[in-house]
Amino acid sequence: MKFYPEIYNIRDQRMKPFIDPDEIWSLIRNTKSTPERVRHVIAKSLSKKRLTMEETAVLINAGTPELIEEIKEGARALKEKVYGNRIVLFAPLYVGNRCTNNCTYCGFRTSNKFAVRQTLTDPQLIKEVEALEDNGQKRLILVYGEHTAYSAEYISHTVKTVYSVKKGNGEIRRVNINAAPMDIDGFRTVKDAGIGTYQIFQETYHRETYKKYHRGGKKADYDFRLTALDRAQEAGIDDVGIGALFGLYDWRFEVLGLVRHTNHFEACYRVGPHTISFPRIQDASSVDVDPRYMVSNEEFIRLVAILRLAVPYTGMILTARENAMVRREVMRFGVSQIDGGTKLEMGSYSESINEEQDLNKEQFKINDSRSLNEIIDELLDDGYLPSFCTACYRKGRTGEHFMEFSVPGFIKRFCSPNAILTLAEYLEDYATPDTAEKGWRVIEDNIRELEGHKMEMEIRRRIELIKEGERDLYL
Ligand code: SAM
Ligand code: SF4
Repeated sequence: MKFYPEIYNIRDQRMKPFIDPDEIWSLIRNTKSTPERVRHVIAKSLSKKRLTMEETAVLINAGTPELIEEIKEGARALKEKVYGNRIVLFAPLYVGNRCTNNCTYCGFRTSNKFAVRQTLTDPQLIKEVEALEDNGQKRLILVYGEHTAYSAEYISHTVKTVYSVKKGNGEIRRVNINAAPMDIDGFRTVKDAGIGTYQIFQETYHRETYKKYHRGGKKADYDFRLTALDRAQEAGIDDVGIGALFGLYDWRFEVLGLVRHTNHFEACYRVGPHTISFPRIQDASSVDVDPRYMVSNEEFIRLVAILRLAVPYTGMILTARENAMVRREVMRFGVSQIDGGTKLEMGSYSESINEEQDLNKEQFKINDSRSLNEIIDELLDDGYLPSFCTACYRKGRTGEHFMEFSVPGFIKRFCSPNAILTLAEYLEDYATPDTAEKGWRVIEDNIRELEGHKMEMEIRRRIELIKEGERDLYL
């Protein structure tokens, strides 16, 4: 394994790159996957234990339709048993698409002369946030290209600006960011601005493939990216999101890369990643991707189910890159967060300018452009409890997924009540009459589930307060 170059002046072994391709390939090639082993591994995950890389390889190598079905069933059972029916909603907000990197799969890359470049001014940013609040959004992820204009100070400034915007009953209660890796001081700066999760995807854990797709700019440095979240931890950001861009290299390698990354966090910081993302390559302006590793829908569902079982305590994010049908299907196997009402063209939340998607103005094509209300409506139809909860992070309960997972009664005491209360606010302030009617029925069903639990009266009392106009009543 190659180690971190001297120039980073590493005084700490934790900052060394930790992906060994030979180890990963050896696990894929040599791990046997009998029905007994697969069942044993699924049972371990259902007993709420994180899987080792070898156990994950057992699931990866289970190729018969029957075993794949058992894995999917296991993931579904785990989600139901551990997390129940809540789905957290958020929206991405692109702040600036200037970029000095040259990732060949991305419409924003520096060599794409067709890309229309823009950075939102403060008034534009405020207008966008107001429009998002008018839709009922409470959680955003701000997204930036990599450019000297988007320094830690600038990112901090935009985060603070977003928090400051209040329109009607609207406010953004959690701002996550997806931005280029920083040094430790930079991470401290954005932490001080009050970010929720810092999310960054390794894109591919395979070094050679990484080199092929990142042909310039700072992002060409695999090691600097791989160790970004270690620097974030060092700066005190323990709420981090990892991900791989599926379609660049063999999906089996990437799944094991994500599990290895998770092990690394657990071993070094005693906390796993807050979320795992699994974006799949979509069409983009002037995109240049080798189609060899494209992931089919079947493989995609399979890999999501495997990830769910491999890291049972972490949040799993599925975005509008996928179409509505795929999202509906994949959601059953362990997804806990989705975006809704997503628009990628800058300025488009406030100006409704993208009736037709224009790839030159977007990072990539999205395939689920339904409104937030439409998404919520479908979630309610499918028996989910849509949630805008931001309570744990604001109460200082970091690692909430882990608590949901490991603290008995945590979901009934905190998660379900907060999901219900935030949905009640949405129904009062933003839902269409049909969705509101449906939503109140779902709320009633969910309160009944808590029957006998002392929370029930408390929630009913708070819902009355929400109906009288009070907001932000979280536990
Ligand atoms: N510039 C930052 C970076 O590269 O980390 C910000 C993130 S970028 C705007 C968000 C993510 O979108 C990337 O990390 C990549 O995984 C994903 N992405 C880029 N091009 C894509 C494409 N054509 N289809 C799907 N996802 C894509
Ligand atoms: Fe720039 Fe990020 Fe796109 Fe790469 S993925 S070109 S860094 S915006």
